Amino acid sequence: MDRYAVIGHPIGHSQSPLIHTLFAHATGQTLEYTAIEAPLDGFAATADAFRAAGGLGLNVTLPFKVEACAYATEVSERARIAGAANALTFDGPHCRADNFDGIGLLRDITTNLNQPVAGRRVLVLGAGGAARGALQPLLAADPERLFVANRNAAKALDLVQSFHALGLGQGVLAAGGWAELATMGAFDIVINATSASLTADALPLPPGVFAPDGLAYDMVYGKGLTPFLRQARAAGTALLADGVGMLVEQAAEAFAWWRGVRPDTRPVIDQLTVPLT
Ligand code: NDP
Repeated sequence: MDRYAVIGHPIGHSQSPLIHTLFAHATGQTLEYTAIEAPLDGFAATADAFRAAGGLGLNVTLPFKVEACAYATEVSERARIAGAANALTFDGPHCRADNFDGIGLLRDITTNLNQPVAGRRVLVLGAGGAARGALQPLLAADPERLFVANRNAAKALDLVQSFHALGLGQGVLAAGGWAELATMGAFDIVINATSASLTADALPLPPGVFAPDGLAYDMVYGKGLTPFLRQARAAGTALLADGVGMLVEQAAEAFAWWRGVRPDTRPVIDQLTVPLT
């Protein structure tokens, strides 16, 4: 049987086997999708063993997304810009890498949540791997402004400078620390790409950053109303969402890349959604 897997450390929490199994049933594809926990120093050896046993593709999660880029023999432009890959496909000695996290986020926002990015003010909180992967697809959707704010402001500035150095985002993309947000007015779309919600930490956000008719999006999923989403609700934000749609949409992109058929994501999103209460 055609074999795929998600590889990470730890991996027990991963929803990817469930998502891909649901996709396979819905599209009539015959495949097996498992979860593999690689030792922290054993990504390449574990991927090699999976390939040697006939594996056709891997999803890659923390902490191996950067290593996956280096492992591949061919890297897509968006994975190169993100500096990280979340999907690999194998063909003999060749290994292609791509990154569907950002496109999954964009698709969730624009298609599932029906929120245009074009011409709107977008704020990304955080400057780690998830923020980095989101920037190029967000820029490609033509926002009026894309601001990256991070606890460690220097990291956000470095990230934005690396985009400017590639000729991306001039005049649109800028960065700073939390303090700058107090003077920047409201953003139509505020995306929490920090991992603060995993530890239930609130972010020091001025209430004025949330436009009342806007969207507050927490990339963390399955945690209900996180402190960030509570802050947004208290500020009167109309639309709140967590990252379950992003998770399912990036999985659908990988599935389509591997199998040539794009599954319907709505039933899977509905099955995995934890109410925001
Ligand atoms: P990283 O570890 O690469 O980056 C973490 C970021 O969070 C950094 O910017 C860090 O700031 C910031 N941060 C962490 N704790 C705090 C805090 N207490 N207060 C303020 N800022 C904080 O993680 P990733 O970028 O890979 O992931 C970020 C989140 O996105 C995770 O919660 C992850 O679960 C989620 N995610 C969701 C996906 C989905 O499909 N829905 C896909 C990928 C990620 P600093 O630089 O100052 O340390």
